[in-house]
Amino acid sequence: MVAIDYDLEFLEDGRTIELISIGMVADDGREYYAVNRDMPVRKIRKHQWLMENVVPSLPKGAGDRRNHVPKSWLFDYADPVVKRRERIADDVMDFIRAAGPDVELWANYGAYDHVALAQLWGCMIDLPEGVPMFTHDIQQEARRLGLGWNDLPQQESGEHNALADARHNRTIRRWLAERNQKGA
Ligand SMILES: [Mg+2]
Repeated sequence: MVAIDYDLEFLEDGRTIELISIGMVADDGREYYAVNRDMPVRKIRKHQWLMENVVPSLPKGAGDRRNHVPKSWLFDYADPVVKRRERIADDVMDFIRAAGPDVELWANYGAYDHVALAQLWGCMIDLPEGVPMFTHDIQQEARRLGLGWNDLPQQESGEHNALADARHNRTIRRWLAERNQKGA
C-alpha cells in the first residue's frame, strides 16, 4: 500500500467549494504543489480569513520577479506552480495513479478536501479509474486510538500552505501508525 497525504486550501460558502491550492506527498517520496490560476479572486479578496491566513503563502514572485508582480495580484501568475484547474486535474490524476493500484488517500478533517478533490474531474461518477472513492482521516485514526489533537505532534511552520499542511499530515499519520503498532 502507498499512502498519499494531501491538503487543499479552498473557498467555501456553504454551497460550493472552490480550489485555491493543493499539496500532496506520497510515501514513495514524490511531492506535488499547485495553485489554481482559476480561483475566484474577487470572492477571496472579500474573505478576511483567507486573506489573512491562506493568501500570504501563495507565490508572490522571487528575486527580480518580485518587483514585477502588481500589488493588486493575489499571487504571481507567472510562477510555475500556478496552473489552470484542468491542468491540475490531469497532474493530480497522474500523481495518484503513479502510486499504483493499492493507494490510500489521507487528509485532516478531510471531508471537504475529498469533495473538492473529486470535483476536479466533475461529478462523483466522473472520478477517474485509479483514484480512491474516499479519503482516510487522521482525525478518525487519532480518535480510534483514544487520542486528542493536543496529544499529536504540532505543526511548527507553514500552516495553511497546502504542501506544508500535507507534509504535517504525513508526520501525524506515521506517528499514529507507529503508536498503533506499539499498542498492538
Ligand atoms: Mg491546509
